[in-house]
Amino acid sequence: MKKIEKNKLLKNHNTMRVDCVADYFLKAEKKEDVLMGLDFSKEKKLPFLIIGRGSNLIFPSKYKGLIIFLGMDNFEIERDRDSVNLVTGAGAYLPQLSYELKKHKGEGLEWAGGVPGSVGGAVRGNAGAFGSSVSDYVKKVKAVNINSLEEQTFDNKDCQFDYRESVFKKNKELVILEVEMTFPFQEKENNKFNEYLEYRREKHPLKPSAGSVFKNIKITKSLSLNFPEITEKFKESVPAGFLIESCGLKGERVGGAEVSLKHANFIINQGDASGEDVVGLIEKVKQRVGEEYGVELEEEVEIVNADFR
Ligand SMILES: Cc1cc2nc3c(=O)[nH]c(=O)nc-3n(C[C@H](O)[C@H](O)[C@H](O)COP(=O)(O)OP(=O)(O)OC[C@H]3O[C@@H](n4cnc5c(N)ncnc54)[C@H](O)[C@@H]3O)c2cc1C
Repeated sequence: MKKIEKNKLLKNHNTMRVDCVADYFLKAEKKEDVLMGLDFSKEKKLPFLIIGRGSNLIFPSKYKGLIIFLGMDNFEIERDRDSVNLVTGAGAYLPQLSYELKKHKGEGLEWAGGVPGSVGGAVRGNAGAFGSSVSDYVKKVKAVNINSLEEQTFDNKDCQFDYRESVFKKNKELVILEVEMTFPFQEKENNKFNEYLEYRREKHPLKPSAGSVFKNIKITKSLSLNFPEITEKFKESVPAGFLIESCGLKGERVGGAEVSLKHANFIINQGDASGEDVVGLIEKVKQRVGEEYGVELEEEVEIVNADFR
């Protein structure tokens, strides 16, 4: 029987590196562990939250429930004639998969070299960058439905992928357990892995963060009418960072949380930020951008509270 830890510190389970104490914590290494955690939270009448690498989450200082950390990080890579196939546990670390794929000359996961999430979290949010996303390569996803306790297999079409969307994001009862992906085999050496990492090093902050905080803003009629000089600059959407920067918010702080001077769509932890500081700064940024441009920024990160699920 897996041990459920009490009063667990989550600083090393979120890339924002905020302090959070979870009442209960379970590292799940197989489906049965997840189900055991669910039984426990039901019995204790407590909320629970599934996490991967915590790279898209803002934790509060206290989480009054059970954190189920998906530790299933085993994977296998096999070369076929003209493809490279990957079968991986949901907890596997994207940068490691990206590197291993490169070694096996599978092309398509180079963008993930600098994305510090799990493959399960990435499939759920259809993560991507540099014009590629997880959905381009997913063949099958195995998930457990925590209401029916049934295991279900989804092919790519069933996953209902869209921009940062999937069936798993819409249906919180689905917990991804395993992902199968296939990539074209590419004999020729490609430099994208290193190029993308270099790009991130140059353009993105190195301090702890949860990646891009807000989604880009779709260009609407009223935005084009009121701010033609901005909307003419961009095609379909205006980068959130552009709007935040033009409101003069770079360097704005709440406690230890700061709008990055390097890239305005990142909030960084200057060392002692709490989750509450980060949320306070998110609210401040939303308010200022709303007042200035009449648009509502929508979070790409997820803010965790006790009744999250
Ligand atoms: C420096 C940095 C750069 C980033 N760059 C990018 C980028 O270029 N592109 C991009 O898309 N994202 C980016 N991100 C955001 C983030 O890394 C990705 O969205 C990542 O895929 C999230 O995975 P995770 O395991 O960390 O999810 P978590 O943060 O642990 O969880 C996020 C959500 O997914 C749910 N979840 C996690 N695992 C599962 C599962 N197995 N089944 C069901 N639900 C699950 C959680 O309950 C939660 O709701 C970046 C983040 C950082 C910190």
